[in-house]
Amino acid sequence: MYYDEKLIDEIRSRNDIVGVIGGYVSLKRAGSNYQGLCPFHSEKTPSFSVNPARQTYKCFGCGKGGNVFTFLMEYENITFPEAVENLAGRVGITLPKYNMTEEARRAANRREQMFELYKKAATYYYRMFYSEKGRFAKEYIEKRGLSPETMKNFGIGYSDGSLYKYLKEEGYQDEFLAKSGLFTYDERRGVNDKFFNRVMFPIFDRNGKVIAFGGRVMGDALPKYLNSPETDIFDKGRNLYGLHLARKTRQPYMLLCEGYMDTIALHQAGFDNAVASLGTSLTGMQAKLLSRYTKDVVITYDSDGAGQTAANRAIPILAEAGIRAKVLNMSPYKDPDEFIKALGREAYEERIRNASTSFVFEVKVIEQRHDLNDPQDKTAFQTEVAERILGFSEDIERTNYIDAFCRDYGFDRKEFRSLVNKLGAQNEFRAAVREVTPVIENRSEVKAAGPDSAVRKSQRIILTRCIDDPELTETIRGYLGPEDFEEGTYRTVAELVFAQFEKDGKIDPSAIISRFDEKDEQTLVAEICETGAAIREGSSEDRRKELADSVIRLAKDSLERKQSDAVARGAAGEILEFARKKKELESIRKKLMK
Ligand SMILES: [Zn+2]
Repeated sequence: MYYDEKLIDEIRSRNDIVGVIGGYVSLKRAGSNYQGLCPFHSEKTPSFSVNPARQTYKCFGCGKGGNVFTFLMEYENITFPEAVENLAGRVGITLPKYNMTEEARRAANRREQMFELYKKAATYYYRMFYSEKGRFAKEYIEKRGLSPETMKNFGIGYSDGSLYKYLKEEGYQDEFLAKSGLFTYDERRGVNDKFFNRVMFPIFDRNGKVIAFGGRVMGDALPKYLNSPETDIFDKGRNLYGLHLARKTRQPYMLLCEGYMDTIALHQAGFDNAVASLGTSLTGMQAKLLSRYTKDVVITYDSDGAGQTAANRAIPILAEAGIRAKVLNMSPYKDPDEFIKALGREAYEERIRNASTSFVFEVKVIEQRHDLNDPQDKTAFQTEVAERILGFSEDIERTNYIDAFCRDYGFDRKEFRSLVNKLGAQNEFRAAVREVTPVIENRSEVKAAGPDSAVRKSQRIILTRCIDDPELTETIRGYLGPEDFEEGTYRTVAELVFAQFEKDGKIDPSAIISRFDEKDEQTLVAEICETGAAIREGSSEDRRKELADSVIRLAKDSLERKQSDAVARGAAGEILEFARKKKELESIRKKLMK
C-alpha cells in the first residue's frame, strides 16, 4: 500500500460518502439510505443506493458497489492512489511523503524534476513557434489545415536548436540534461539539441503533463518523425497520444489511429475521442489503459497494406483487454486527415457507423492468403474461419457469424456448420485431456471455485452478518477463524473483520474496502460485505437458521479440505480427528439457533 492505513481511514472518514457522491449524482433520501439514478449504467428508475451508516454505495441494477474511493476510481477512471490524493485535497489534508522509502522518494523527486524540465522545454518550443524564427514552421502547419485553436490545444511548437543554450542559462546541469534525451553528445561537436528545425508535437500523459516530444521535418529530410526516447517519465508502450483530451469525451467509444496528425485532424473535425499509439504497434499495456475508458474501439489505421496488417494485429490485443473492435474503411483515401479533407465530417461519421466488426475484417485478411478457386485452398480458408468462429463463447454469436459468413461467400450453411461442430468437438476433446491431470491434483480447490458456489455464499452471509451485528462475531469465532475462509480476497476480508472486532468491538465495512487498491477487488469486497443485506428483511428465526447453515457449511468445507490434505500425507490420526469434528458440527446448530 502506497499510503499509511491510518491516513487513508482519516481521509475516508472526513469525506462523507453522501456529500461526495451527491456532487456527481442527484440523491434523494429513502428511509435510512439515499437513492439516485446509477451513473454507471443507464436507467430510468433509481436502483443506486448510498448507505450513510456503512459509508458504502451499491447499485442493484448493475452490481457496482464500494466506498467513497471506489466511487471516484470508477467515475473518474483513476487509480486508488489518485483517488486518495483527490479526496485528501477535497478536505485540505496534505499528503506526506515520509511513508515512501528513501529510494522511492528520490525517484519521485527525479520524476518531478523531469516533468518540470519537459514543461520548460514545451513552453520554449511553443514560444519559438510564434516568434519570427518559427514563421516557416507555422506556415507549414497552417498549410496542413490546422486552425489556430487546434495548434494551441495541442501545444504545437518549433525547435530551432537553441534549447540547450536556453536551459544552461536557466541553470540546469549537464548531468541532469543528459538524462532527458533531448540532447546529443559528441566528442567533436559537443552538446547539441536532438531536435533541429522541426515542428514539435508535445506528447502528454493522461493528466495533461508533457512527457515526451515528437518532431517532424518540414521538407523531405529523413527521418520524417523523430521521437524523444523513453525516460523516467515516458514509457511509450504505456501511453496513448491524445488520451488527456479523449478521456473527457462523451462518446461511448474511442477512435484509435496511427499518428499525431491523424489524432489532431480528428479532434479538429469534432471527434474528441481520437487517440493514437505512439509510433509503435499497439501494446497490451496501451489496450489495458484504453479499457479503463471504453469497451468499444473503432480502429482507423491507414488503408494501405501496412496499416491493415497493423489493424489485424491490434484486434486480438484489444480483445484481450476486453475491448470490442471495429475497423473503419477509409478507401480510397489513405488516412483520416485526407478522408475528412476530401469528404468531410459527416461522411466520416457515416463510415464509423458502417465500420466492420473485427470478425468481418479478419475474414477479409484471411481471404487474402487463400485462392478460393483452388478447392484445397478453399477448404483451408473455411477451416481457418471456422477456428476463428469457435473463439466466440456464446452459441448465438457463433450462429450469427456462421450465417453472415455463408451469406457473404455463398457457402452452404449446413455444410459449414458441421465443419465448425467437428472442429469444436476435436478442440474440446484435446482440452479435456489436458485438464484431467490438474483436476485430480487440486480437487479441494476446484470445489471452492465458481462465483456462486454454496460455500462462497455462506462466507458472504457470515461476513455480512458479523458487520451488521458485531456481537455475533464473538460467537462465530468460537467455531471459525480466518483460515477457514477461501484463500485470497475472502480470507483477507475475514482477517480484517476479526481484527477490527478484536480491536474496536465494531466493524467498519468502508474501512475494509480501502484495504484493497484495485477497483474490481473493491467492488467484490463491497459485495462480500453486503450480501446478507437481502436477508435482513426475513424473520429473525429465518435469519438465525441461515447463519447457522452458513457457519456449518463453511466449517464442514474447511474440515474436508484439511481432511483430504491429511489423506494425501497419509496422516491417519488427523484423518480420524477431522472426521470426529465433522460429526460434532451439528451440535453447533443448537447453540447458534438460540
Ligand atoms: Zn448501476
